[in-house]
Amino acid sequence: HPYSQDLKQQIRTVRDWPKTGVNFRDITPLLQNPSQFRKLIDLLVHRYQSMHLDAVAAVDARGFIIGAPLAYALGVSFVPVRKSGKLPFSTVKSAYNLEYGQAEVELHTDAFAAGAKVLLIDDLLATGGTLLAGIELIQALGAQVVEAAVLVELSELGGREKLAAAKVPVFGVCAFN
Ligand code: IMP
Repeated sequence: HPYSQDLKQQIRTVRDWPKTGVNFRDITPLLQNPSQFRKLIDLLVHRYQSMHLDAVAAVDARGFIIGAPLAYALGVSFVPVRKSGKLPFSTVKSAYNLEYGQAEVELHTDAFAAGAKVLLIDDLLATGGTLLAGIELIQALGAQVVEAAVLVELSELGGREKLAAAKVPVFGVCAFN
């Protein structure tokens, strides 16, 4: 896409954060730049406006920043996939592995109508564990994940392949090795 190089230039790499040897990809410069943030949302609206989605689901917390304006612009439901312990109603949960230890994501059981077509959003795809946990929950509730979209794809960590095994295609706006 003609905008993806411009958008990639707005991602800041912070060396040795949160620990030595990690290059953290920081999306906040892009969010601070109104025309670039608008370009990102417009690019996603253009890609998804003809897909007849019923909902945009997004991963807590940076996924919300992208997912909420996208759902608003598409005129579809917004569903938060939350870190565990935050949602008040009845829920389903899925645990996944982080580099060190485990985490859990949670969804309200009434988040989707049966057969709903859902787009899943996060800021960044690394190993794919987080998005896969979200996909399992959405599918367990009887909805269909038509695609997973991220602003940044770390292409050497196997996330795209992990999601392909679950039959979910990935759209990455930009990629780093
Ligand atoms: P995965 O589960 O290994 O794919 O990791 C992706 C999750 O970790 C996403 O929810 C990201 O927000 C977060 N994450 C991992 N690395 C980075 C990074 O370099 N920048 C921003 N978020 C990251």
